[in-house]
Amino acid sequence: MSFEIVPLTLCYYQAEKGYMTYMAGYGQSIIRPFVVWFIRGASKNIIVDSGIETQDYLAYHPGFKDLELTHVQSFEQALASVGITPEQVDVLVQTHLHFDHCHNLKRCVNAEVLVQKAEYEFAMDPAPFAGIYRPELWEGANLRLIEGEYEIEPGLTLLPVPGHAAGGQAVLVETKSGIVAIAGMCTSQENFYPEAGHPMVGDENTLLPGIILNARDAYESMKRLRSRCDRILALHDPDILQQKIIS
Ligand SMILES: [Zn+2]
Repeated sequence: MSFEIVPLTLCYYQAEKGYMTYMAGYGQSIIRPFVVWFIRGASKNIIVDSGIETQDYLAYHPGFKDLELTHVQSFEQALASVGITPEQVDVLVQTHLHFDHCHNLKRCVNAEVLVQKAEYEFAMDPAPFAGIYRPELWEGANLRLIEGEYEIEPGLTLLPVPGHAAGGQAVLVETKSGIVAIAGMCTSQENFYPEAGHPMVGDENTLLPGIILNARDAYESMKRLRSRCDRILALHDPDILQQKIIS
Protein backbone atom coordinates (compact mmCIF):
# COMPACT_ATOMS: atom_id res chain seq x y z
CA MET A 1 0.00 0.00 0.00
CA SER A 2 1.30 3.47 -0.63
CA PHE A 3 0.03 6.65 0.95
CA GLU A 4 0.36 10.38 0.46
CA ILE A 5 1.00 12.89 3.23
CA VAL A 6 -0.83 16.21 3.06
CA PRO A 7 0.52 18.87 5.45
CA LEU A 8 -2.13 21.38 6.54
CA THR A 9 -0.78 24.49 8.26
CA LEU A 10 -3.18 26.26 10.63
CA CYS A 11 -0.93 29.18 11.59
CA TYR A 12 2.70 30.19 11.92
CA TYR A 13 5.00 32.78 13.44
CA GLN A 14 8.51 34.04 13.24
CA ALA A 15 10.09 32.45 16.30
CA GLU A 16 13.40 32.15 18.07
CA LYS A 17 15.45 29.60 16.17
CA GLY A 18 16.97 28.26 19.39
CA TYR A 19 13.62 26.51 20.06
CA MET A 20 14.58 24.17 17.26
CA THR A 21 18.34 23.83 17.46
CA TYR A 22 20.15 22.88 20.66
CA MET A 23 22.99 25.25 21.60
CA ALA A 24 22.76 26.91 18.22
CA GLY A 25 20.77 29.53 16.35
CA TYR A 26 19.98 31.69 19.40
CA GLY A 27 19.00 35.21 18.44
CA GLN A 28 18.16 34.11 14.93
CA SER A 29 14.62 33.58 13.80
CA ILE A 30 12.79 30.86 11.97
CA ILE A 31 9.23 30.46 10.74
CA ARG A 32 7.45 27.86 12.88
CA PRO A 33 4.28 26.47 11.34
CA PHE A 34 1.65 24.57 13.37
CA VAL A 35 0.51 21.65 11.32
CA VAL A 36 -2.07 18.91 10.95
CA TRP A 37 -0.98 16.04 8.67
CA PHE A 38 -3.56 14.14 6.65
CA ILE A 39 -2.73 10.61 5.48
CA ARG A 40 -4.32 10.07 2.08
CA GLY A 41 -5.01 6.57 0.88
CA ALA A 42 -5.68 4.87 4.22
CA SER A 43 -8.71 2.68 4.84
CA LYS A 44 -9.92 5.18 7.46
CA ASN A 45 -9.64 8.93 7.89
CA ILE A 46 -6.33 9.35 9.66
CA ILE A 47 -4.66 12.58 10.75
CA VAL A 48 -1.44 13.13 12.64
CA ASP A 49 -1.56 15.89 15.28
CA SER A 50 -4.59 18.10 15.69
CA GLY A 51 -2.59 21.35 15.92
CA ILE A 52 -3.62 24.73 17.24
CA GLU A 53 -5.40 27.72 15.69
CA THR A 54 -4.18 31.31 15.92
CA GLN A 55 -6.79 32.48 18.44
CA ASP A 56 -6.20 29.52 20.73
CA TYR A 57 -2.46 30.08 20.64
CA LEU A 58 -2.82 33.76 21.55
CA ALA A 59 -5.25 32.91 24.36
CA TYR A 60 -3.22 30.00 25.73
CA HIS A 61 -1.26 32.19 28.11
CA PRO A 62 -1.31 35.96 28.75
CA GLY A 63 2.36 36.01 27.74
CA PHE A 64 1.40 34.85 24.23
CA LYS A 65 -1.22 37.49 23.49
CA ASP A 66 1.15 39.75 21.53
CA LEU A 67 2.78 37.04 19.45
CA GLU A 68 2.62 37.92 15.78
CA LEU A 69 0.93 34.80 14.58
CA THR A 70 -0.26 34.55 11.02
CA HIS A 71 -3.56 32.78 10.56
CA VAL A 72 -3.69 30.40 7.62
CA GLN A 73 -6.88 28.43 8.15
CA SER A 74 -9.11 26.97 10.83
CA PHE A 75 -9.00 23.29 11.77
CA GLU A 76 -12.35 22.80 10.00
CA GLN A 77 -11.09 24.52 6.84
CA ALA A 78 -7.92 22.46 6.87
CA LEU A 79 -9.86 19.21 7.07
CA ALA A 80 -12.42 20.42 4.51
CA SER A 81 -9.55 20.90 2.04
CA VAL A 82 -8.99 17.13 2.17
CA GLY A 83 -12.71 16.37 2.12
CA ILE A 84 -13.47 15.56 5.75
CA THR A 85 -14.91 17.15 8.88
CA PRO A 86 -13.52 16.86 12.44
CA GLU A 87 -16.37 14.41 13.19
CA GLN A 88 -15.19 12.19 10.35
CA VAL A 89 -11.68 11.71 11.71
CA ASP A 90 -11.46 8.01 12.63
CA VAL A 91 -7.91 7.92 13.93
CA LEU A 92 -5.96 10.82 15.39
CA VAL A 93 -2.29 10.12 16.03
CA GLN A 94 -0.81 12.50 18.56
CA THR A 95 2.96 12.63 18.07
CA HIS A 96 3.03 14.02 21.62
CA LEU A 97 0.79 16.05 23.92
CA HIS A 98 2.44 19.49 23.91
CA PHE A 99 -0.40 21.99 23.65
CA ASP A 100 0.49 23.20 20.16
CA HIS A 101 0.11 19.67 18.82
CA CYS A 102 -3.12 18.61 20.51
CA HIS A 103 -5.25 21.72 20.99
CA ASN A 104 -7.97 20.49 18.62
CA LEU A 105 -7.94 16.91 19.90
CA LYS A 106 -11.43 16.97 21.40
CA ARG A 107 -12.95 18.41 18.24
CA CYS A 108 -12.41 14.98 16.70
CA VAL A 109 -15.31 13.62 18.73
CA ASN A 110 -15.46 10.23 17.02
CA ALA A 111 -11.75 9.56 16.77
CA GLU A 112 -9.67 6.99 18.48
CA VAL A 113 -6.64 8.97 19.67
CA LEU A 114 -3.34 7.11 19.57
CA VAL A 115 -0.83 8.31 22.16
CA GLN A 116 2.19 6.58 23.63
CA LYS A 117 1.48 5.47 27.20
CA ALA A 118 4.77 7.04 28.34
CA GLU A 119 3.65 10.38 26.94
CA TYR A 120 0.23 10.20 28.59
CA GLU A 121 1.72 9.32 31.95
CA PHE A 122 4.27 12.10 31.76
CA ALA A 123 1.66 14.59 30.57
CA MET A 124 -0.49 13.84 33.61
CA ASP A 125 2.40 14.53 35.97
CA PRO A 126 4.66 16.94 34.13
CA ALA A 127 6.10 18.93 37.09
CA PRO A 128 8.48 21.45 35.47
CA PHE A 129 6.79 20.99 32.07
CA ALA A 130 3.30 21.73 33.40
CA GLY A 131 3.00 24.87 31.26
CA ILE A 132 3.06 22.93 28.02
CA TYR A 133 0.70 20.12 29.07
CA ARG A 134 -2.97 20.81 29.81
CA PRO A 135 -4.98 17.69 30.68
CA GLU A 136 -8.28 19.42 29.81
CA LEU A 137 -7.20 19.21 26.16
CA TRP A 138 -7.54 15.40 26.18
CA GLU A 139 -9.54 14.47 29.27
CA GLY A 140 -12.66 12.52 28.33
CA ALA A 141 -11.42 11.71 24.81
CA ASN A 142 -11.17 8.18 23.45
CA LEU A 143 -7.46 7.68 24.05
CA ARG A 144 -5.73 4.48 23.14
CA LEU A 145 -2.43 4.18 24.97
CA ILE A 146 0.24 2.56 22.84
CA GLU A 147 3.34 0.91 24.19
CA GLY A 148 6.17 0.83 21.70
CA GLU A 149 5.94 0.26 17.99
CA TYR A 150 2.47 -0.16 16.53
CA GLU A 151 1.09 -0.81 13.05
CA ILE A 152 -2.06 1.20 12.33
CA GLU A 153 -2.44 -0.61 9.04
CA PRO A 154 0.11 -2.15 6.67
CA GLY A 155 2.44 0.65 5.57
CA LEU A 156 1.60 2.96 8.47
CA THR A 157 3.61 2.42 11.63
CA LEU A 158 4.11 4.33 14.85
CA LEU A 159 7.68 4.46 16.13
CA PRO A 160 8.50 5.74 19.62
CA VAL A 161 11.00 8.63 19.51
CA PRO A 162 11.38 9.82 23.12
CA GLY A 163 13.71 12.66 24.04
CA HIS A 164 11.97 15.85 22.93
CA ALA A 165 8.95 14.59 24.87
CA ALA A 166 8.78 11.61 27.22
CA GLY A 167 6.66 9.55 24.84
CA GLY A 168 7.01 11.15 21.43
CA GLN A 169 6.16 8.97 18.46
CA ALA A 170 6.97 9.30 14.77
CA VAL A 171 4.76 7.97 11.98
CA LEU A 172 6.42 5.89 9.28
CA VAL A 173 4.46 6.21 6.06
CA GLU A 174 5.00 4.05 3.01
CA THR A 175 4.87 6.26 -0.09
CA LYS A 176 5.72 5.76 -3.74
CA SER A 177 9.13 7.30 -3.11
CA GLY A 178 9.95 5.17 -0.07
CA ILE A 179 9.29 5.37 3.65
CA VAL A 180 8.68 8.92 4.84
CA ALA A 181 8.65 9.68 8.56
CA ILE A 182 6.64 12.41 10.25
CA ALA A 183 9.28 13.17 12.85
CA GLY A 184 7.41 13.08 16.18
CA MET A 185 9.59 15.76 17.75
CA CYS A 186 9.63 19.53 17.38
CA THR A 187 12.32 20.16 14.82
CA SER A 188 13.03 21.83 11.50
CA GLN A 189 14.70 20.05 8.59
CA GLU A 190 18.03 21.46 9.75
CA ASN A 191 18.02 19.09 12.75
CA PHE A 192 18.09 16.07 10.47
CA TYR A 193 19.91 17.57 7.50
CA PRO A 194 22.30 20.15 8.97
CA GLU A 195 24.75 22.20 7.02
CA ALA A 196 28.17 20.57 6.67
CA GLY A 197 30.57 21.81 9.32
CA HIS A 198 27.90 23.13 11.70
CA PRO A 199 29.64 23.40 15.11
CA MET A 200 26.85 21.69 17.09
CA VAL A 201 26.33 18.70 14.83
CA GLY A 202 27.12 15.41 16.49
CA ASP A 203 27.92 12.18 14.74
CA GLU A 204 25.17 10.65 12.60
CA ASN A 205 24.82 14.22 11.24
CA THR A 206 22.37 15.08 13.99
CA LEU A 207 21.57 18.49 15.41
CA LEU A 208 19.49 17.98 18.57
CA PRO A 209 16.09 19.68 19.03
CA GLY A 210 16.25 22.92 21.03
CA ILE A 211 13.54 21.77 23.43
CA ILE A 212 14.48 18.48 25.02
CA LEU A 213 13.59 16.45 28.04
CA ASN A 214 16.52 14.07 27.57
CA ALA A 215 19.28 14.83 25.09
CA ARG A 216 20.65 11.29 24.99
CA ASP A 217 17.21 9.82 24.27
CA ALA A 218 16.58 12.46 21.60
CA TYR A 219 19.86 11.59 19.94
CA GLU A 220 19.13 7.84 19.99
CA SER A 221 15.62 8.50 18.66
CA MET A 222 16.93 10.58 15.77
CA LYS A 223 19.42 7.87 14.92
CA ARG A 224 16.75 5.16 15.05
CA LEU A 225 14.36 7.23 12.99
CA ARG A 226 16.99 7.82 10.32
CA SER A 227 17.68 4.08 10.12
CA ARG A 228 13.98 3.33 9.57
CA CYS A 229 13.07 5.65 6.72
CA ASP A 230 14.23 7.26 3.50
CA ARG A 231 13.15 10.78 4.34
CA ILE A 232 12.18 12.68 7.50
CA LEU A 233 9.59 15.45 7.72
CA ALA A 234 10.27 17.76 10.67
CA LEU A 235 7.16 18.95 12.52
CA HIS A 236 7.88 22.70 12.33
CA ASP A 237 9.82 23.29 9.13
CA PRO A 238 9.29 26.60 7.28
CA ASP A 239 8.98 24.75 3.96
CA ILE A 240 5.75 23.11 5.15
CA LEU A 241 4.04 26.43 4.37
CA GLN A 242 4.19 25.54 0.70
CA GLN A 243 1.72 22.74 1.51
CA LYS A 244 3.30 20.35 -0.96
CA ILE A 245 1.86 16.87 -0.94
CA ILE A 246 4.47 14.23 -0.17
CA SER A 247 4.04 11.08 -2.20
ZN1 LIG B 1 5.95 21.44 18.61
